[in-house]
Amino acid sequence: MTHHQQQPDQAAANLLARVRGQAPDIRANVRRLAAFANVHACPTAAVAFAARVDTNRVLAGTSMEMPYGQSPFAIGRGVAFEALLRRHGHAELRRVLTVGLATDFTFAAIENLREGYPPNRAGLRMRATVTQTRMAEIAGRPAEPVVLDGAVLQADIGGLPAYFEADEMAIGVGGQIIVGENKSWPVVDGKPTDEDALGAALDQAATYVLLGRRTLEHAGVDPALMSDSIVLVTPRNTGLAPSLHRQDVASRIRRIERLLGAVPDIRETAKSTPASVTFDVVADTTRPEGVRMEAFRQVTDELGRVYEPASCLTSCGFAWACRQCLFAAGDPDLVGGAVARALPGIASLSRVAELGQGAPASTAEVPAAVPLARAGRLYDEIVPAPVPPTAPPTAPTPTPTPDDTPRRTA
Ligand code: SF4
Repeated sequence: MTHHQQQPDQAAANLLARVRGQAPDIRANVRRLAAFANVHACPTAAVAFAARVDTNRVLAGTSMEMPYGQSPFAIGRGVAFEALLRRHGHAELRRVLTVGLATDFTFAAIENLREGYPPNRAGLRMRATVTQTRMAEIAGRPAEPVVLDGAVLQADIGGLPAYFEADEMAIGVGGQIIVGENKSWPVVDGKPTDEDALGAALDQAATYVLLGRRTLEHAGVDPALMSDSIVLVTPRNTGLAPSLHRQDVASRIRRIERLLGAVPDIRETAKSTPASVTFDVVADTTRPEGVRMEAFRQVTDELGRVYEPASCLTSCGFAWACRQCLFAAGDPDLVGGAVARALPGIASLSRVAELGQGAPASTAEVPAAVPLARAGRLYDEIVPAPVPPTAPPTAPTPTPTPDDTPRRTA
């Protein structure tokens, strides 16, 4: 059965809806997939991903809600740039594609799939069907180039169908299909101003190439017609004038393929998730913060955490809350797995400090206690012990001089 024909297991989907409770849900998208890849070893993150829980918004209204999303300025710039590309019958997009791909797009058929379809899941499904049909037509070498603006690709993510919306997905040139992405961050003197944003954009485009190949395969068309090289359309320098950059993303396509294959299956996740686990209370904004945080602690204690400060803080909306749970428990995992693994048999960070000061170790603590005591002695040698503050010397009482004698004023 192909990924297009696979049906989600309704029982599993229902179970995960219960896990989600009133927590805000989120559609799978490329950014979310990439973020999940960074924390996929964590059982809580895996259940939240499978249940489509939006980890950025579950803790809304608490002090543990992390800042997320783009700045309003970046969003405004993105909207303005997209509008510029589409203005006057996509005149700017035609110009930049003509220059960048050495093919005349003046009379290209540009089909805007963002218009004319309902803005919901049914609309995405319809657009995915049209995209597949048009891609097969492009592969048949039409007389003029073709551009699909807002193409939609379907994927199976861990057993549930997901839809991915691309920008100029499927630019047809001589039977070859090229993925295009519009980004509004500037490229100054040929260099992107934000390397992270460039990496994310290339990952996004690589995902579309991979899904495009699967779509072609499903339509009975040679998937090799999807090009390994994609185009990025970005503003040049600080203005909004568009320019085009071609990039090879073959290695990223392979990485994304491995990533998609590693997403836990919804049926397996549902089977292994205890019946008591739900984010319902955690997300309940009518409850006091203390109640919500206690519910969060219980859920994450039950599922388990794999806390790695670097990846959690950049890729999971639960990072501050997990860090707080670990801090409150004095859990060595607070400092990350690499350090925690070097402390086998030690229950808390305060115990680490005691052993570092030479406290007698229990049998279970011995492997870590010896290097800790050595580290403690080294620390004491290098960092001088603080000198206890001494009382300041008492100043002698000055003998009053004739000038110090209080004078009375008449
Ligand atoms: S922040 Fe917490 S839930 Fe998220 S990946 Fe890290 S340990 Fe897991």
